[in-house]
Amino acid sequence: HADMAMFYAKESGRNNYKFFEQEMIGRAVELQSIEASLHLALERNEFLLHYQPKIDLHSGAIVGVEALIRWQHPQRGLLLPGHFMSIAEDCGLILPIGRWVLREACLQAAAWMNSGLPAIIVAVNTSALEFRSEEFLEHIRATLKTTGFDPHLLEIELTESVLMRDVESTNSVLHSLSDMGIRLAIDDFGTGYSSLSYLRRFPINTLKIDQCFVNQLNANPDDATIVQAVISLGKSLHQRVIAEGVETQEQYEFLLAKNCDEGQGYYFGFPMAPQSLAALLKAGGSLIPASD
Ligand code: C2E
Ligand code: MG
Ligand code: MG
Ligand code: MG
Repeated sequence: HADMAMFYAKESGRNNYKFFEQEMIGRAVELQSIEASLHLALERNEFLLHYQPKIDLHSGAIVGVEALIRWQHPQRGLLLPGHFMSIAEDCGLILPIGRWVLREACLQAAAWMNSGLPAIIVAVNTSALEFRSEEFLEHIRATLKTTGFDPHLLEIELTESVLMRDVESTNSVLHSLSDMGIRLAIDDFGTGYSSLSYLRRFPINTLKIDQCFVNQLNANPDDATIVQAVISLGKSLHQRVIAEGVETQEQYEFLLAKNCDEGQGYYFGFPMAPQSLAALLKAGGSLIPASD
């Protein structure tokens, strides 16, 4: 988008360049104001978690959920993480926000389990800064203890770039988590650089195929090949494989035919408020839409 703006600005001369400059200033001001209000958001309790179902592709049953942060901004409305998480990372607020996310997800999940809903895996995304912080393991241990949530039902999602930086310390943190019974998933798999030898050494339970490969599955033969290869890789390493961003019946049918374990995407369910997710869990049954 910025490249295009620059192109048009150059093409059509000074007037447009001025317009472009103003847009950039406007954007900088917006970033600054988001950063300022981000500092207050935790105290004001403006964050919330939505939960998106992960389903077993064979039965359609909910086997887990991914907790996804949202910010109920007083002026701007409900903001998605794309609008504020990189700012939170740049100014270090990602650490207290990450602690809030973990605690909130564990509290919610423990409440679901205590109310007699079927047990599901609850996944939480973790940023590089959190994963590398000194207090990370201790905070997880303490949170599990105070919330009473079963560690075997907690999954931590990490991207390849987080895992492959400083592999020795990564390996030790992953083993500590795994020893606590916590499950580990590689998020956005296929978009970063993973060393296959570490993929084998790390105690990883789940590979999440990035949605960019799933999007074009039925239009682009290369993407279909990649998805199939990741499913085989996961199987041979005894990992569960889940496809992200499943939006159509064709994508679902392809994944099922290739024996992918799980799916997540708008085709099965959007990220939703905890009450809605609880209602779905209570109803049981399959989230695979009836085909026509
Ligand atoms: P992610 O972990 O890869 O999460 C999946 C994203 O894909 C979510 O976007 C989800 O709403 C979206 N999605 C799910 N199904 C579909 C689909 O069928 N089609 C399409 N086009 N998109 C789908 P969201 O909620 O905007 O989150 C974006 C990213 O922000 C996440 O990507 C994750 O990297 C980060 N994030 C979200 N919550 C947290 C959090 O609590 N902590 C940290 N550190 N990062 C988070
Ligand atoms: Mg994720
Ligand atoms: Mg992902
Ligand atoms: Mg992503």
